[in-house]
Amino acid sequence: MDQERERVSGREHAERIAGLVAGFLDDVPPLVPGEVALVGAGPGDPSMLTLAAVAALSQAEVIVHDALVDDRILALAPPTALFDYAGKRGGKPSAKQADITLRLIAHARAGRRVVRLKGGDPFVFGRGGEEVLALSLEGVRFRVVPGLTSGLAGLAAAGIPATLREVNQAVILATGHAGTGEGGLDWAALAATGQPIVLYMAMASLGPIAAALIAGGLPPGTSAAVVASATTGREAVVVSTLSRIAEDAAAAGIDPPAIVAIGEIVAVRARLIGTARLIEAMQ
Ligand code: SAH
Repeated sequence: MDQERERVSGREHAERIAGLVAGFLDDVPPLVPGEVALVGAGPGDPSMLTLAAVAALSQAEVIVHDALVDDRILALAPPTALFDYAGKRGGKPSAKQADITLRLIAHARAGRRVVRLKGGDPFVFGRGGEEVLALSLEGVRFRVVPGLTSGLAGLAAAGIPATLREVNQAVILATGHAGTGEGGLDWAALAATGQPIVLYMAMASLGPIAAALIAGGLPPGTSAAVVASATTGREAVVVSTLSRIAEDAAAAGIDPPAIVAIGEIVAVRARLIGTARLIEAMQ
């Protein structure tokens, strides 16, 4: 009897949740013809999408998307939607940024409801700012749908708190794209802040970047972690020290996309995971 009651109330609850979520989706103002929604898809797993992203995708007539978007996310588009692939990946043939912007403008001028889908948050190292600037200059209507950025969501997924009261008062999100060469960051200046650093697009230059941070004063034994394909079924975490992280990530066969976290926030992970195991063992 009790089991039967639980089953019924479980189903009722599921229906209530589905109804509430449908209501949230309905409350998102619909895309209008000729409008471009710049949408953040989050770090990877479909469960990391916002409801605003789901609403925009479900109404899209054209989706201009990057390489890293999961097929299950693309499946939210209507069956009649057109997919316009604009993938850009280091070292591989890629659509030029100017071409992508022109394509967005052309789709909008053709009166389509356009979703420009980007990984993570569209305004964090994603050229989203440049794209909406171009759209606004052309008088194209647009909206921005924020997404969970991989540099923060990826840390949380891996059990690394971005801030801890007794450890840090800031967290630096930086790109490793230009490495230690021309146009790269002043790594010694970042090291001097003593605050944790989270790097995007840094795998190709991780060795030289780590060396530059050490030369800038960070102890070689500073905790460091690489989190690859965060939130997806392929998520992989390598924890090491600043002086060894590049080598250890390579030895573990880590593939991009990956973020790198450097600083004592990383060391908390071992304590958290240790505590979680302890609690599990006690139950
Ligand atoms: N706009 C994106 C970042 C684009 S730059 C965002 O807010 O997340 C691309 C970089 O993001 C990759 O090189 C990698 O450093 C990081 N990245 C994206 N998805 C990731 C994931 N699932 N796990 C780890 N890093 C990821």
